[in-house]
Amino acid sequence: MPTWLVTGGAGFIGGNFVLDAVASGVRVVNLDALTYAGNLDTLSPLSDNSNHVFVEGDIGDRVLLDALLAEHRPDAVINFAAESHVDRSIDGPAAFVQTNVVGTLVLLEAVRDYWRAMPTAAGSAFRFLHVSTDEVYGSLGNTGKFSETTPYAPNSPYSASKAASDHLVRAFHHTYGLPVLTTNCSNNYGPYQFPEKLIPLVIAKAIAGEPLPIYGDGKNVRDWLYVADHCAAIRAVLERGRIGETYNVGGDAERQNIQVVDTICRLLDERRPRQDGKPRASQITYVKDRPGHDRRYAIDATKLKSELGWAPQHSFEQGIADTVDWYLENQAWVGRVLDGSYRLERIGAGHAEAAA
Ligand code: NAD
Repeated sequence: MPTWLVTGGAGFIGGNFVLDAVASGVRVVNLDALTYAGNLDTLSPLSDNSNHVFVEGDIGDRVLLDALLAEHRPDAVINFAAESHVDRSIDGPAAFVQTNVVGTLVLLEAVRDYWRAMPTAAGSAFRFLHVSTDEVYGSLGNTGKFSETTPYAPNSPYSASKAASDHLVRAFHHTYGLPVLTTNCSNNYGPYQFPEKLIPLVIAKAIAGEPLPIYGDGKNVRDWLYVADHCAAIRAVLERGRIGETYNVGGDAERQNIQVVDTICRLLDERRPRQDGKPRASQITYVKDRPGHDRRYAIDATKLKSELGWAPQHSFEQGIADTVDWYLENQAWVGRVLDGSYRLERIGAGHAEAAA
């Protein structure tokens, strides 16, 4: 049975990945700092499963990393841990540099030293997979797609910190020979996403009868991917990807933000109509744009598809319907994760005037 050290496995994508990995027979050591975005509730199906070991801690804690690597001898390390919300990075970039850059560096150094001391066969099979984002490439015009050779041009403190971490991962391969892989994925959606991000935020506010905030003109385009398809892509890259390579992951599902919100409103109207009979689209409210808001992202995932045989299994229409159903059925999960300091308020707007 393989053992994987997964960081950030109590978050949205990491949580989905850990649930799937353990179900498929992998032993997972899950290191997560349990920031506001980390929820043990997501992992409750594994509470009695001895193949899941949860450790609360920071990827920037070298002493802890050395102890975990020595004790559990993982065959792979998959790094999801990050500060991940663009709006929060506008209000407080330092935390993003601390975890995404400094934390990733400390993790890389610990893993490099662990890997160097491995027996030859185990060392040859070992992999470090870094989970990153398409936002490192900046913003597109109306045409074109990001490929693995698109130059990095990050525009937010979040994407700048992820770009820096990608560069460190690359450098650890070229300088020390560490067997790394990097994935750059488009926007994810699906179960267990913290309700500060567009899709779960709109579902929560729509159900509550609150205004649905649309940044700017609502025509910013994202290439949406259902989270299970992202997890399958990470597995494919981990198991069959070429060492030192990066792979773009995307669902060929470009949608304007306003189209996404309209779709959610329609799905909720069908499933749970408002008592006054009004359409939920009547709750849509346009608000001041996010400073530096990237206009369009689109991914060319040809390399991943042709080299590794990956393809998304969920159309956007199916995935968004499943997601709305999941949030309707899991209102208790939403209530528990919102028990902390976040109450669906807008973040990162304070700098909008200055950037305009
Ligand atoms: P998330 O914010 O839901 O989860 C991040 C997790 O990391 C949380 O559980 C948090 O507690 C943990 N964490 C934060 N700082 C830590 C630290 N210093 N040490 C250990 N754990 C720490 O994020 P997500 O949406 O699941 O994203 C996971 C990864 O995927 C991130 O690296 C992100 O950049 C990348 N990504 C996300 C998307 C997306 O659409 N959500 C798309 C592409 C790539």
